[in-house]
Amino acid sequence: MSKVFKQQTNRDTVGIRLINDPELICHNPQRESTYEFNGHSCVSSCVGCMNPLCMRFSPDELKLSDERLNEFPADIDDSVCPMNAILWERGDSTPSVVSERCINCGICARRCPIGAIYSDGNSAVVHAGEKEVEFRPATQDNIETHNRQMHALYECWHTGQYLDVSEASIDVLYKKLGEQQTEAQFPNLIIRNLFLVLGNQCIIRRRGDVYFRIDAIIGDNPVIGIAEVEFHKDSLESPRAILDDIAVLSARYGIDKQQIKPFIVSLEFPNIRTEYWRVLKDIRDVLGIRIHSLSLGALCMLAWKFLNVPIGTVDFYADVDSPSIKDAIEAVCNSRKLPDLKAYAVLEPKK
Ligand code: SF4
Ligand code: SF4
Repeated sequence: MSKVFKQQTNRDTVGIRLINDPELICHNPQRESTYEFNGHSCVSSCVGCMNPLCMRFSPDELKLSDERLNEFPADIDDSVCPMNAILWERGDSTPSVVSERCINCGICARRCPIGAIYSDGNSAVVHAGEKEVEFRPATQDNIETHNRQMHALYECWHTGQYLDVSEASIDVLYKKLGEQQTEAQFPNLIIRNLFLVLGNQCIIRRRGDVYFRIDAIIGDNPVIGIAEVEFHKDSLESPRAILDDIAVLSARYGIDKQQIKPFIVSLEFPNIRTEYWRVLKDIRDVLGIRIHSLSLGALCMLAWKFLNVPIGTVDFYADVDSPSIKDAIEAVCNSRKLPDLKAYAVLEPKK
């Protein structure tokens, strides 16, 4: 993280767009995004932001508005890319993606206000070099013009998708992830960043903190989501951990139990024959607590579609009677039919 920060603050030039402000950004799987203005369409090109949203979250974005949770030991890592795959080399006008490191999650593409990041099917690509963007010396005047243009871009509506949801797209994500070394904090970091780009507030437990065990808290006022993120461990532990988390939040932070929406986020769903699905049903029947299940792949699918998914509005509950979130994801994606993903248990357990 520090390496990236240092590189992008030592900048000599700043991008100025030479044409009208875009009205709509259109994302296209496996080709550059375009933007529209006054009936015209142009290819989106990186403007070398002074404040590159594709690389960092602001301190305000890494906070919850609920002051009762101010004491939560939150991780302050502000990296957008959970794989450290976006670099901004000294002397370059724009950042670039190290394709071998990139797992194609699409988080950075969600952040770019002009849609300059697209997927070539294997990794994210920062598209640069269109003649509508001119790089000028980073003088005060040029920086002010740049910042004014960026503010107009933040208001722009995005449509389309980063990638088609398919077995091939999920295959790239999971295979590349499986081939790389990640840090211990990686599962929490990528899940936090996905919840953030889907329009929620989200903080994660500081790395190494052994006194607090909730992995993530997701804010969508008045709902407070809590998440156990289990990429490697036995998923059966997760429902039990969630019950601990609810007790801690209620007893120590004064959060009403009815306000808490619990999630278990795994890499892939456990097999239907494991106790996991039955335990979720038992907890619902006996305690009245509905624990929602999500997977990394499912969250990426939502992010690829440039949807906003506030957690208070969705229902990803599944248990032994109906161990699937496929219908729920289809509903969020405006009822578009999703393919059967036979090789990966990201929407339902493998048959
Ligand atoms: S890729 Fe997008 S967010 Fe990143 S520097 Fe370029 S224009 Fe800015
Ligand atoms: S797609 Fe994901 S892994 Fe690739 S550069 Fe963007 S944020 Fe990083």
